[in-house]
Amino acid sequence: MLRITELKLPLDHSQALLNEAIRHRLAISNDELIGFTIFRQGVDARKQQAINLIYTLDVETTNEPSILTRLQDDPFISITPDTTYRFVAQSSGNWHERPIVIGTGPCGLFAGLILAQMGFKPLILERGKSVRERTKDTFGLWRNRVLNPESNVQFGEGGAGTFSDGKLYTQIKDPHHYGRKVLTELVKAGAPEEILHVSKPHIGTFRLVSMVEHIRATIESLGGEIRFQSRVDELIIDNGQVTGVTLSDGEMISSRHVVLAVGHSARDTFNMLYERGVYIEAKAFSIGFRIEHPQALIDACRYGSHAGHPKLGAADYKLVHHCRNGRTVYSFCMCPGGTVVAATSEIGHVVTNGMSQYSRNERNANSGIVVGITPEDYPGHSLAGIALQRHLEAHAFELGGGTYQAPGQLVGDFLNNKPSSALGSVQPSYTPGVQLGDLATALPNYAIDAIREALPAFDKKIKGFTMNDALLTGVETRTSSPVRIKRNAFYQSINTQGLYPAGEGAGYAGGILSAAVDGIKVAEAVALAMIGGQ
Ligand SMILES: Cc1cc2nc3c(=O)[nH]c(=O)nc-3n(C[C@H](O)[C@H](O)[C@H](O)COP(=O)(O)OP(=O)(O)OC[C@H]3O[C@@H](n4cnc5c(N)ncnc54)[C@H](O)[C@@H]3O)c2cc1C
Repeated sequence: MLRITELKLPLDHSQALLNEAIRHRLAISNDELIGFTIFRQGVDARKQQAINLIYTLDVETTNEPSILTRLQDDPFISITPDTTYRFVAQSSGNWHERPIVIGTGPCGLFAGLILAQMGFKPLILERGKSVRERTKDTFGLWRNRVLNPESNVQFGEGGAGTFSDGKLYTQIKDPHHYGRKVLTELVKAGAPEEILHVSKPHIGTFRLVSMVEHIRATIESLGGEIRFQSRVDELIIDNGQVTGVTLSDGEMISSRHVVLAVGHSARDTFNMLYERGVYIEAKAFSIGFRIEHPQALIDACRYGSHAGHPKLGAADYKLVHHCRNGRTVYSFCMCPGGTVVAATSEIGHVVTNGMSQYSRNERNANSGIVVGITPEDYPGHSLAGIALQRHLEAHAFELGGGTYQAPGQLVGDFLNNKPSSALGSVQPSYTPGVQLGDLATALPNYAIDAIREALPAFDKKIKGFTMNDALLTGVETRTSSPVRIKRNAFYQSINTQGLYPAGEGAGYAGGILSAAVDGIKVAEAVALAMIGGQ
């Protein structure tokens, strides 16, 4: 197969035009073209009057070698890479101890799935409930302002990405095409096939629930086991080697291979690891607010007269501004046609995040507007970033009136440094409710100053971004892990053998796809170590 990249065609092109463009690019006749598949399809909306679709195509022809020789200097034509996933090991099934995976987020689920597919029958331990039970608890906070600290947006089957936009793109380097393996497994689990070829695939919350159940069933059918409401409270370490874990009910389970895929909100687990002497260091993350605009404003600004075109869907954006005070402000986890969600896992805290359904047809667009911060902003202790997150989240809870409402302010008022007292045209989507007031004390001064500088700069890119009635809610603190649990070339902790820190919580991923990819890498490391008798 031949791969053609960067093939641009107008938004409303016909199938015939696509065929013709392929033949033209390869300079071949109709008879020489056997067929093609779309590997990737993206949108180039830089010029509103001429929005294009950009294709990467895999083309089958009758005379591949001669085309390749003829077009060897064309940078946009090559041999299609082999993206088939191959297992690094296959278990003989002769183990007296199973590998343990802690957490069923994308990282833990994919580590568990790959181990199961290789025959290692993992035991997967999850502190929260199964996904349907968890959904009820999550709605408990969103609708009734009742938080279950063990079953919520962060904790439970599927991990943090279950109630999300389900965006599935990442900027990680992926020379071994692990991302393709993830997407292929997700399609088997019920994701729409288009995620295999659109450039910015997303799934939406509703489908994610049944997909997570499907992956669980696959793991179980291969001999793996998943236990819910099984929080790991202790790591048993003997002479620098992990030998097992203790659950919250006191049960001890032996294993010399433990994958730690606990996500960025397992603060008690990080504390336990720190106390046990596992090497942890503070890591940079970001803090800020969520912003909501009418989706129609974003669509009109990005797509002009093409806004609403069925091939385009709800428009997204990605914004960055480097501030005079040295800070960088950027948009984070943008959710077109979505809702702002209550994302705390701790009593007496308020945290915002965003999600959407597959259709992305809610009236507001939302995204985090966040400021990068580093350990220099929270010096002294490996877990100091967690202390800062807690402080900001508890303060947001107070500002919101102490009932899980989010504190909010209109963008116009925020920029003019005056408290808000009434909503304008943008109705908040955050369902526990919004308490309007003044967000100036919700973040450190340097972050407030940076956001005040960045918003007008963003307005230059998206006209109307600083519309008076756009709404800020806060606080956005769980943008990534505030710690890194360092690991060596064998994916094990640098001072605790047999512990495999993985995924977002350990500082090795920043989203669903990258966490799942990390899960595959770590599963391979576990398999090779078990086969090698370590
Ligand atoms: C509302 C929201 C929307 C998001 N939207 C997107 C998006 O659209 N696209 C995207 O790429 N990313 C999104 N993210 C981020 C994404 O969800 C995370 O990057 C990803 O889930 C990280 O995967 P993980 O497996 O490393 O950790 P997690 O998904 O956080 O999973 C960790 C799991 O470990 C469990 N656990 C924790 N401690 C213990 C313990 N001691 N014992 C047993 N189990 C434990 C938790 O209950 C949890 O299930 C979103 C996040 C949120 C909260």
